[in-house]
Amino acid sequence: MRHVAVIGSGPAGFYTAEACLKTFGDDVRVDLIDRLPVPYGLIRSGVAPDHQSIKAVTRRYEGVASEEPVRFFGNVTVGQDVAIDELRGLYDAVVVATGAPADRPLGIPGADLPGVIGSAAFVGWYNGHFDHAALAPPLAGDTVAIIGHGNVALDVARILAKTAEELSGSDIVGHALGALEGSGVRRILLCGRRGPHQIAMTPKELGELGHLARATPQVDPADLPPEADDAMLDPGQRKSVALLRGFAAAGRDATKPVTIDFRFFASPQAILGQSHVEAIRLERTWLDAAGGAHGTGETVDMPCAMVVSCIGYRSITIPGLPYDEKLGRFANDAGRIGGVGSGLYCAGWARRGPSGTIGTNRPDGFQIVEEIALDLPRARGVEGGAGLARLLAARGVDAISFDDWRRIEAAEQGRARDGSPREKFVDLAEMIAAGHAPVA
Ligand code: NAP
Repeated sequence: MRHVAVIGSGPAGFYTAEACLKTFGDDVRVDLIDRLPVPYGLIRSGVAPDHQSIKAVTRRYEGVASEEPVRFFGNVTVGQDVAIDELRGLYDAVVVATGAPADRPLGIPGADLPGVIGSAAFVGWYNGHFDHAALAPPLAGDTVAIIGHGNVALDVARILAKTAEELSGSDIVGHALGALEGSGVRRILLCGRRGPHQIAMTPKELGELGHLARATPQVDPADLPPEADDAMLDPGQRKSVALLRGFAAAGRDATKPVTIDFRFFASPQAILGQSHVEAIRLERTWLDAAGGAHGTGETVDMPCAMVVSCIGYRSITIPGLPYDEKLGRFANDAGRIGGVGSGLYCAGWARRGPSGTIGTNRPDGFQIVEEIALDLPRARGVEGGAGLARLLAARGVDAISFDDWRRIEAAEQGRARDGSPREKFVDLAEMIAAGHAPVA
């Protein structure tokens, strides 16, 4: 019997577990280990709460977790409750699938001012991640600047712009819904250092901005390249740029109080303020033939009360694993950490950095399991999950099983407001207590 430990129970972790079952059949046991007492990683705490159809993929993961050879160990931090080397001793293979939960640093003067918030924290706040539940973003001001022209920037802008009614069917947590209802934000600056042809937003997500109840997107027609140039874009990007052209042509809908103002060729140079954010300094850029941005020296200070930086993510290091500081992910060679024979692998964002869709992680997981099969033609006779369970119990670690998670899930569903699928626990102790509650 092969024993595989997968660290992280987000998409990459689940696709790796699924690939193990498909590849090794009855000859494998897979343990999914997660720092949180709840599974699904980015699906639960990253995907926007108003994108419930995307979150439906968890049903597939639930099917995997329900398979007999798969076991969930939630509330277990690798590197703290159990060391990497201990896992290597217990398992034939250890796959790191911990994603990229930290913000890429902005690295400009003023980035540490109160009111400058990374997207991991802001998204975690509205999605009920208990690391960020206490964030209290300053929403009283009129203007918010968002840095980045990717899909996360779009998520943040949309959530800031939507009405409580538009969010009613979502699973945004109560504390965020309440704070957003009282928000004074009327202008959302979406700042990108390059142009319309270089946005990293996908058409479906960008198109949603055109259908908001109280907000309109604004694009300055002067920022758009000649329409004939769109022909050189790939079809998806062409669609996105067509949407931007549509926003520019439609202009501002004066009946709607909130504007989502696209600022192109605007590179953040500094965040200004005495004790909190008061403005963002943007430098006008020009693009070289390869699309690289260069400063023109021309700057403008845009007053704003909050800055949300949506410029990408980094993996968080785990003691005992090599880390590539420059790329912000685990050092690996096509998913192998430390070469053949080390028994260490990585998958998903922990392997390739924060790019691609949820589905991109599926081939990634399958490819890693192919490597494992090649490296490990026969099981080594290790103990696997039984050994891990014993070690955790001896250390007093309160590991959460998948059945415990089902109880947490039922409790979250039971306390949901009308129309919402769940009200997440944002307090760790409360969540764990719900997991251990006697079945009614
Ligand atoms: P992203 O797609 O990589 O976009 C990051 C943005 O930040 C880019 O516009 C980038 O501009 C900009 N940026 C990076 N460093 C910067 C800096 N120092 N100063 C100014 N701007 C900077 O990252 P993301 O939005 O975090 O998304 C991560 C992944 O999740 C993506 O694959 C995304 O598609 C996916 N995602 C998907 C959905 C969905 O499908 N609904 C939702 C959310 C996220 P440059 O291009 O100039 O570098």
